[in-house]
Amino acid sequence: MKELKELVRPNVWNLKPYSSARDEFHGEASVFLDANENPYNAPYNRYPDPMQWKVKERIAEIKKVDVKNILLGNGSDEPIDLLIRAFCEPARDCILAIDPTYGMYKVAADVNNVPYIPVLLDEQFQFKAENLLSHKEASAAKLLFLCSPNNPTGNSLNREEIRKVLAGFGGIVVVDEAYIDFSSEPSFLSELSTYPNLVVLQTLSKAWGSAGIRLGMAFASPEIIAVLNKIKYPYNINQLSQKYAIDLLENPSKVNEWVEVLLKEREKLINGLSLLPIVKKIYPTDANFVLVQVEDANKLYNYLVEQGVIVRNRTNIALCLGCLRITVGTPVENETLIESLKKAAI
Ligand SMILES: *Cc1c(COP(=O)(O)O)cnc(C)c1O
Repeated sequence: MKELKELVRPNVWNLKPYSSARDEFHGEASVFLDANENPYNAPYNRYPDPMQWKVKERIAEIKKVDVKNILLGNGSDEPIDLLIRAFCEPARDCILAIDPTYGMYKVAADVNNVPYIPVLLDEQFQFKAENLLSHKEASAAKLLFLCSPNNPTGNSLNREEIRKVLAGFGGIVVVDEAYIDFSSEPSFLSELSTYPNLVVLQTLSKAWGSAGIRLGMAFASPEIIAVLNKIKYPYNINQLSQKYAIDLLENPSKVNEWVEVLLKEREKLINGLSLLPIVKKIYPTDANFVLVQVEDANKLYNYLVEQGVIVRNRTNIALCLGCLRITVGTPVENETLIESLKKAAI
């Protein structure tokens, strides 16, 4: 990795961040006349904790990291955007990523006018570090996005290749672990201290069953987190989401129960799908969804919509010709899907 100062945009490196009333005073007091709040309508009249310390303390305990390694965002979308804005000078610094992968990286790059370079995976949806690192733009790239387990393919990326990228890439390597709780592979969180250029993304949106509250997590060195903290909106996680998250994180065993049920359902779903003649291929998955190649993806997708069953049509994505991405639902939902597919006259 290059020096952090060489990677961060100069304007961000030199930025003096906005300092809010809630940033400047810490401690106990009984009279708060510092933030122009309305004194009525407690507790929602007060600005929320800009650094979300209580939420982070719970996450730090569960994930076995320090609170200084954590940035919380309005979904993972926010840290994705913050990373691009912190490191990439528009129209100049580029981003490398695998292809196919999560569509949000390219959208966030496009919004920021940052060149985005997709590098095609192989037929097994795997990559070679050498391929990424020897790309002609690799030495100039500031960010590299890896998603493992990958969306929409479902597989975990080869761990050794990820390590080689972490060791060989001069910029920041973002490993998006949105689906890690469903995976048989361990998280890269334990490698934060080994690789100073590693950023791990996780979220409450998937295994934690809380997509509606918008809470994403970025884990990285305290130095990288400090850079991101400078440019985030001061009150980026609202009071309702913070309160909800603290309660949810009190009870992590519930997540284990959900994951256990969903993994069993995933097996049943795969078995059910494998018996259907219209299913040509079921790709191996480490996530709570499965990528399936079918006879005619567009036709089958439209047929399922008519039946009131919505899956994701991925046929136009690189290497995913004829593919639908199917999320694992409840036993009844999965059964409804299989029954609909049995009746499909395609
Ligand atoms: C669903 C998903 C996320 C989560 O996004 P949120 O904004 O946290 O809801 C992140 N990365 C990938 C690859 C995903 O599929």
